[in-house]
Amino acid sequence: MDRYKKQRVRMVETQIRARSVKDPRVLKVMETMPRHLFVDEGLIDQAYNDNPLPIGEKQTISQPYIVALMTEALALTGKERVLEIGTGSGYQTAILAKLADRVFSVERVASLASRARKVLDKLNCYNVAIRVGDGSYGWREEAPFDAIITTAAAPDVPSYLLEQLAPGGRMVVPVGSREVQTLYKLTRSADEPARIDKEDLGGCRFVSLIGESGWKE
Ligand code: SAH
Repeated sequence: MDRYKKQRVRMVETQIRARSVKDPRVLKVMETMPRHLFVDEGLIDQAYNDNPLPIGEKQTISQPYIVALMTEALALTGKERVLEIGTGSGYQTAILAKLADRVFSVERVASLASRARKVLDKLNCYNVAIRVGDGSYGWREEAPFDAIITTAAAPDVPSYLLEQLAPGGRMVVPVGSREVQTLYKLTRSADEPARIDKEDLGGCRFVSLIGESGWKE
């Protein structure tokens, strides 16, 4: 048994289940995903702590609970095509890869994208495609998506992303100022004309989305 298993079980119990995340598939994958492989060697001891951690380039790997909350909101069954904006460490990407059919992830910083790619390959996440660029524009060639997740904060719901959401699709995105945001779940109606239902999932703090639908550097 790998030595981090105990830490992961405790993480799921005290940080995630305790805060009412219930989706059994989400809980299971978070109990098995080796989060310590996604952080710098010097931070391995903190990998399962209840907070985000620096991953270089002034970016962070999200707090485990936030990853669980956002993933649960996407209501994945295994058949979905998912778009992720902000690959970062690749941890959230790997979680999505185990719960959906295909994952398309866009990262602005090339060095982070290539580091994430290596870890994802090591974990056999071959259903993940990563592209370097401004995720504000989504991934038009692969649209529409059943689920869209943005792991960087935006001043408003990015309109190009909403356009790439399939009928019946779910999108989670932190919206607010550069310092503090509200996490929203948007659900597109299955029928036309499209209606968008908006649900408030609570306060959060993400690093900024930089680009067309975000801030300038
Ligand atoms: N889910 C990641 C979060 C990383 S932080 C993890 O847990 O590791 C957010 C990431 O979004 C950063 O890596 C940052 O470089 C990236 N980012 C910011 N603006 C972006 C944009 N316009 N397009 C794509 N990625 C962006």
